[in-house]
Amino acid sequence: MFTLAIHGGAGTIRREAMTAESEAAYHAGLAVCLKAGHAVLTAGGSAVAAVSAAVVALEEDELFNAGRGAVFTSGGKQEMDAAIMDGRNREAGAVAGIFGPRNPILAARAVMASEHVMLAGEGALAFCREAGLEFADAAHFFTEKRWQALQTELARRAAAAADTRSDADRHGTVGAVARDAAGNVAAATSTGGMTGKRPGRIGDCPVIGAGTWADNNTCAMSATGHGEYFIRWAAGHEIDARMRYKGETLTRAAEAVVTELGAIGGSGGIIAVDAAGNVALPFNSSGMYRGRIGEDGVAWTGIYKEALRAL
Ligand code: ASP
Repeated sequence: MFTLAIHGGAGTIRREAMTAESEAAYHAGLAVCLKAGHAVLTAGGSAVAAVSAAVVALEEDELFNAGRGAVFTSGGKQEMDAAIMDGRNREAGAVAGIFGPRNPILAARAVMASEHVMLAGEGALAFCREAGLEFADAAHFFTEKRWQALQTELARRAAAAADTRSDADRHGTVGAVARDAAGNVAAATSTGGMTGKRPGRIGDCPVIGAGTWADNNTCAMSATGHGEYFIRWAAGHEIDARMRYKGETLTRAAEAVVTELGAIGGSGGIIAVDAAGNVALPFNSSGMYRGRIGEDGVAWTGIYKEALRAL
């Protein structure tokens, strides 16, 4: 038995700002990425390989804020964070504040295979070159939609106006969690961060125990939301601790942490799976792009607070 779940960001996703076509595009995009992970698991691949493949697919889809289509900093640049963790042995790899590697999650995976856990900035890029990872040019990552979102945000700040954007224009992240046929779990997360973030700002995504976590004894989780809160609440490790020390189920632990985050202003959600293959996808915002797939290969996807639909 294997299972995989993904997210493409959480927040105030306004139904009125979505057309039937854009909703369908998100559902279809999520299904493609679920199937990329499913193909790996069907072929007997590990949870680590499956979450990596699913996140590569999400990074390649410009609808989502990671890799191609990442948001811009206040300085007009893109700075990406990514992390991956193996539940078998807590091996982990992360990169922060990078621009250039085509798939930041593959950079994180290469770091996991090294003696280090986290690399940032220029040193991380040098490591990626040495590891032979593919680089892409600025045109690959650029999208007009994200550029315009930055211009709108900079104009708002200049006018000191209230922030009325939907979260979908502000931030986003992609992530995957899986439980493979051998019973191992893994998690992967990748993001461009938050639109107009200060150059050098790092979110929760590459912080092991905050936005990304995996341990076979408890769960694998990947977060999306206002990263500063997820770091301060050590969201990933908090779910682990509730399961480990309080004996809570995956669903109870994940929901409790997401509710707690909501109460302090930390909008967002998480996806999580345990070694028994239970899946939890809680969020405290109006929506979270999300999906899950099991052995039968049926992709279940959702955007708002609604039951997932089969594609
Ligand atoms: N968690 C991400 C960050 O803070 C953003 C998001 O998931 O929306 O960088």
